[in-house]
Amino acid sequence: MQERTCSKCDVSKPETEEFFRKRGTKDRGGLRPDCRDCTKARDRAYYEANRERYKAYQAANAERIRAYMLEYKRAYYRTETGKAAIQRANRRWNQSPEGKARLTLLQQRRRARVAGLESAFATEDWTLCLEWFGQRCAYCGGSAETLHQEHVIPVESGGPYVPWNIVPACGSCNSSKTTKPLDEWFPGQPFYAEERMAMIADYFALVSP
Ligand SMILES: [Zn+2]
Ligand SMILES: [Zn+2]
Repeated sequence: MQERTCSKCDVSKPETEEFFRKRGTKDRGGLRPDCRDCTKARDRAYYEANRERYKAYQAANAERIRAYMLEYKRAYYRTETGKAAIQRANRRWNQSPEGKARLTLLQQRRRARVAGLESAFATEDWTLCLEWFGQRCAYCGGSAETLHQEHVIPVESGGPYVPWNIVPACGSCNSSKTTKPLDEWFPGQPFYAEERMAMIADYFALVSP
């Protein structure tokens, strides 16, 4: 691989974007002459030297910066990486002491109700279900305006309308899966993720009587 010697630290590194930042848009393009470590050190030193000025700027523009960061985050959470990050966070929350306590409470309420009302799926079950999956399709992880109550074991195959057979699904997944068994259909999808399959299994384990 072609190497380049950093203009600051004199160390030779592969001439790639992993080791050298791209030049700013005002420059001719290509990579910077100094390596990423040196650029970073320079930025840090510059920041340290101007810390007070930055703080004053941030204080004066707090509202604008907040709005910008919010929009930046929103855009990020629309990307695949962002969506995956949310799912990981949801899963962490569901497994955290607070998350578990919340889910246990919902589970207890549901059990108490199911005891007197067999084979049913109520608003509260749907709320828990949506919470578990982070208001997203259990299969593709996408958000949708309408999430369908998807029978994992299809009605046609005798799948009951109970919490341990229902997951939220977007319209697209809902109509793609139709009456196919989960383990035949899901792994063949381009958006298949083991993690989401595990989320479904974890959820059914939680809500099963
Ligand atoms: Zn360097
Ligand atoms: Zn989907």
